Amino acid sequence: MSDSQKISAFLEKGFLVSPDALTTIEEDPEGSVVLYNQLNEKKSQGKLVIVNKDILSLINKNKEIIDINWKEFERSKALVEKGKDKRIYNTFLDLLNYEEQKEKLNKILGEVQKPDGITTIESTPQIGSSVIVLQSHNKKPKKREVGDFVKHLKVRYDKIKPILTNHQTLQNIISIGKIPLKKEKEEVTLIGLVRDKLITKNGNTFLTLEDPTGEIKVLISKNNKSLWETSKEIVLDEVLAISGVLGKGIVFANNITFPGLPLNKELKKSPDEVYIAFISDIHVGSRSFLAKPFLNFINWLNGDISNKELKEIGKKVKYIFIAGDLVAGVGVYPGQETDLIIPDIKKQYEELAKYLIKIPEKIKMIIAPGNHDATRLSDPQPPLDKNFAKPIWDLPNATLVSSPSLINVHASETFPGFDVLLYHGNSYHYYKTEVERLRLSKAHENPTLVTEFLLQKRHIAPTHESTVRIPDDEEDALVIEKVPDVFVTGDHHRSATSLVNNINLIACSCFQKKTDYEEKRGYEPDPGRVPVLNLKTREVKIIDFNQDE
Ligand code: FE
Repeated sequence: MSDSQKISAFLEKGFLVSPDALTTIEEDPEGSVVLYNQLNEKKSQGKLVIVNKDILSLINKNKEIIDINWKEFERSKALVEKGKDKRIYNTFLDLLNYEEQKEKLNKILGEVQKPDGITTIESTPQIGSSVIVLQSHNKKPKKREVGDFVKHLKVRYDKIKPILTNHQTLQNIISIGKIPLKKEKEEVTLIGLVRDKLITKNGNTFLTLEDPTGEIKVLISKNNKSLWETSKEIVLDEVLAISGVLGKGIVFANNITFPGLPLNKELKKSPDEVYIAFISDIHVGSRSFLAKPFLNFINWLNGDISNKELKEIGKKVKYIFIAGDLVAGVGVYPGQETDLIIPDIKKQYEELAKYLIKIPEKIKMIIAPGNHDATRLSDPQPPLDKNFAKPIWDLPNATLVSSPSLINVHASETFPGFDVLLYHGNSYHYYKTEVERLRLSKAHENPTLVTEFLLQKRHIAPTHESTVRIPDDEEDALVIEKVPDVFVTGDHHRSATSLVNNINLIACSCFQKKTDYEEKRGYEPDPGRVPVLNLKTREVKIIDFNQDE
């Protein structure tokens, strides 16, 4: 097949083949059929139309292609081809776990960029800033059908299963449909989605576990104390592994495995002393918005603070993450009108922009919505609606993303940057009340306990009723496929921080005084406190902006 025949054959199927991919495409028609099918699968998910050599190589190696922002990926490739910036492309390749190809690319580019033996890479590069949106969700709503929900759970199962099969301790993994081929008393491990969970009169726990091939009952005996304690952590609709002994139509569990986190995650440290500040729940427009501490925060970023140590930190802030609830919103709860000083949501964003414009332009802001903001309420919440929040979109240093979203910051020629998972926290209320351990440990006061719990599930909202969502038949955007370096949330109006498996878990405070709702529930907000992460040491300091200067 000639190159032009290959190009037309792929064009007919709706793919644009880039020239570098032509030599890789097989002559053999059968091989091409397999390739078409694999590509079609990606295309049907709206993820891929341009086929380049790197993508083909990933498919040939059977590497799983995770959901990244393919448009950005193509754009970054174009930059490399123009001999411009290779950082973004490298970060994408890194995300795709594509080491070998990256090394080759670096070598080629290194040679190209060294005319006459002079290196163009500075030995002491200027500390720049870099913001790369790896995942931000903004799908247009479409009419949903019942079948979409089933497909949505299948997508979730397919995404989390490989995380579980990676556990070396899990032996004899079989699909539920193969159970009839096994004898009673045989040891088996099943990976399934928890469709039902109940406690019997005797105090034993029964699960209904489901995979695409069938379903089975699982018994967790109360006599196995430690296992029974673990079973309390199980929530509906999550994907996990159960090991146990086969009985008649039942598995007697002796082990429960959650997807969990890798034990060897590197604690990346930036060569530069640079800081990220994390804020959320500003609630501009509310009568209880606290302008003074918010102004103190902005003044600090402008060097206007007497405390010398804090002044030094303020100068080195390069990024601000805002985890939702920028404004009070309108009609969020019955009778909200009386709590508003600005009753128009557009004017609320206008007012907020007057504050944010005072933040030095060299500081990059990454902004996600919350449940009070002008956007769809269901998770993943798309970025702020331009029709309502135009002044925020117009800020020269703002990047608007969805909740959740995954953003890489501070990547450079020599440093991969930090992946930050940003989520407002819409699902957290469910788990902090429904899960006994979280309820008893007052997770409301320390929301990072919920973050840690959900990281173990590798899902931001496993249980269907824990958040509002539209079942997507092609994607489950709430699966935590790529383990981040930082996981930041808002919503609770309580600042907290912890380090779990070398991941900085950060909960933001607020700029709103205690509301009647919080008073009634016994919640104690801690407004005006801002967690600040030192990227060189990975230490977090919480700075209090309530004091008068
Ligand atoms: Fe809030």
